[in-house]
Amino acid sequence: MTSRDNPQLRIVGGHLALDLVNTVAPRRPAGPEQHEYLGEPVELLEWAQRVELVDAAEAAAVAAAWHAAPGADQQALRVVREVREAAYALLADRVPAAQSTLDSSVAIGTLNLHWAAASARSVLVRDGASVRLQVGTTPAQLIADRLTRIVVDFLTADSSRLKECPVEQGGCGFLFLDHSRNGSRRWCAMADCGTSVKVRRLTANRRARATGKAE
Ligand SMILES: [Zn+2]
Repeated sequence: MTSRDNPQLRIVGGHLALDLVNTVAPRRPAGPEQHEYLGEPVELLEWAQRVELVDAAEAAAVAAAWHAAPGADQQALRVVREVREAAYALLADRVPAAQSTLDSSVAIGTLNLHWAAASARSVLVRDGASVRLQVGTTPAQLIADRLTRIVVDFLTADSSRLKECPVEQGGCGFLFLDHSRNGSRRWCAMADCGTSVKVRRLTANRRARATGKAE
């Protein structure tokens, strides 16, 4: 299956590291109901443009590099998915309900490996009077390297506003940052999970009342 068979992936994490984690939907429970939105390299490339990880020129350079080196696209996709699952495993340690099948010590090892590779392909450049870190100097690995950097930045920063859209209450299990002032956000997006849970509850209530009258 490809994303063409599924509704468009929702971008609701509030941080690119979480949007990456949320490219499997629903995020839990693991099983046949889950859809992989990064199933093919072309889907990764499309998603990377959609979330503005790469611009059109960079996407074209990535596509050209993938075309020139057979297997490079699958290799990039594999790294991205490994980084994603490592990120989810490590974030699941902070979100009580989230569950990952990947052990945290394996996850940190995977991340260290890809972080080292991404760092080796990064360079410091002068930018006017300051210095800038340019991550990804090799187009074929550009997307994977940037995502690795973003994930590492996120994991090493404060994540006190990290939440999971509650699966047990009918949510999707996506991770998101609660930017609300009082930290009371419950759903990944009220317009998505919040509303559909409310509609399901109303329908169930109505059905229960109708059955009650019929008896
Ligand atoms: Zn949700």
